[in-house]
Amino acid sequence: MRKTVLAGNWKMYKTQAEALEFLKGFVSHLEDTPDERDVILCVPYTALGSLSKNLHGGRVRLGAQNVHWEDCGAFTGEISAPMLTELGVDYVVVGHSERREYFGETDETVNRRLKAAQAGGLTPILCVGETKAQRDAGETEAHIFSQLEQDLVDVDQSKLIIAYEPIWAIGTGDTCDAAEANRVIGLIRSKLSNPDVPIQYGGSVKPTNVDEIMAQPEIDGALVGGASLEPESFARIVNYKA
Ligand code: 13P
Repeated sequence: MRKTVLAGNWKMYKTQAEALEFLKGFVSHLEDTPDERDVILCVPYTALGSLSKNLHGGRVRLGAQNVHWEDCGAFTGEISAPMLTELGVDYVVVGHSERREYFGETDETVNRRLKAAQAGGLTPILCVGETKAQRDAGETEAHIFSQLEQDLVDVDQSKLIIAYEPIWAIGTGDTCDAAEANRVIGLIRSKLSNPDVPIQYGGSVKPTNVDEIMAQPEIDGALVGGASLEPESFARIVNYKA
């Protein structure tokens, strides 16, 4: 039985005070959220500690947006799994396209980060997806299969979430057609050794399109950027109509 996982990726948005303000508004909308839906906020490092103290064992879980493969060392600007778990973090986004595009993340470093996350007790959310140019050239499948093959070497698929995020759909308002996202996610699943890995869709998910996306049989959740920054909008996504 695959889990349903709704995650917000705040990226580099919200100070600590803004994060706490969000949480106050957000939790008030979760009373009727079905228990079987996992709700995760992947927030800036600086907001993790105070959010963690204010979750009160509620149903919101915390995620970070990156993790290094060493526990400690001379790696300026990086953060390690023990530093995150100490703050009550359970999940971490790994290999987001923004990390790959702007910060030199490679499939090799993504693989190292995934293994370190798992070894440190975190569940990684691995992001894969194609550019517009790759899609137009008919290379979507080959690109994603290549990412999966390299990123998942020696990764434990019993403690893993995957997010299919077509890069051309991120932050553009140009959502991938739900049936097409379903098709690609089905192909991703066909490459996994564990069929129970939850696979999310990400890319311009909004209150207005979440119901259709979540109605697709292969899609197990959403990884949401912009629309996770407002309590009402992310609550509507989490409370999608099945
Ligand atoms: P948007 O929802 O803003 O398109 O961002 C998606 C994303 O990158 C989530 O990781």
